[in-house]
Amino acid sequence: MSTQQLAIGVWRVPTSKGDRDNAFLVDGDDGLTLVDVGWAGAPCVLLGALAELGRKLIDLRRIVITHAHPDHVRGLAEFRRQVPDARVLIHSDDAAWLHRGRVPRGGRHGALGAVLDAMPLLHWTPVEPDGELVDGAVVDGSDGLRVVHTPGHSPGHVVLLHEPTRTLLAGDAIFNRGSQPAQGPAMLAHDPATAAHSLQLLPVDVTAVGFAHGAPLRGDQVARYQTYRARSARIPE
Ligand SMILES: [Zn+2]
Ligand SMILES: [Zn+2]
Repeated sequence: MSTQQLAIGVWRVPTSKGDRDNAFLVDGDDGLTLVDVGWAGAPCVLLGALAELGRKLIDLRRIVITHAHPDHVRGLAEFRRQVPDARVLIHSDDAAWLHRGRVPRGGRHGALGAVLDAMPLLHWTPVEPDGELVDGAVVDGSDGLRVVHTPGHSPGHVVLLHEPTRTLLAGDAIFNRGSQPAQGPAMLAHDPATAAHSLQLLPVDVTAVGFAHGAPLRGDQVARYQTYRARSARIPE
């Protein structure tokens, strides 16, 4: 596995085989920001990615979590142990889940979601965040990483727009399965109707899209995102 540059100062780090799970590194004035971690095996991959980019552990200043689901945070406690100076940031509406170490009962829509979240494999070592991500604000020190609160997949789900390059890091607001953007399975969402509504909050003017799940879209491929985004805007409120 190796890093892939999406734009100047923005890299994708595949943390599982293929395009299944991705984290992102963003360079800024005061060092690197990591967006999401991944499963338990992700810390090892992320340490390798930092080495591949010729960066030191101390260069990593903060870890931004798009939402508290196991495929994004199961490796967080271990990775934080490796980079104790990096601040962990998450939206306040997901902070309690992160601290609890699991998606609580009722945290996902439908019975299958409840069954999944009862499985120890989908629990994680609780993490107390160091700060909050605020809708509309630039992540402090990140040099242009704008937070957009997009609730529904989870209550505190956020996407990040890297404004210097107009690169969107979409978290689980949309997936890229079969090379076409789409919403994730409703059973994995906290509130599917709110998640659908949040699609209208996604930025329109972007030059690249990095997905937590699926291959990124760059260049001409971004038109697929634009088309999906325009279609989603017609969903009735
Ligand atoms: Zn998720
Ligand atoms: Zn996910």
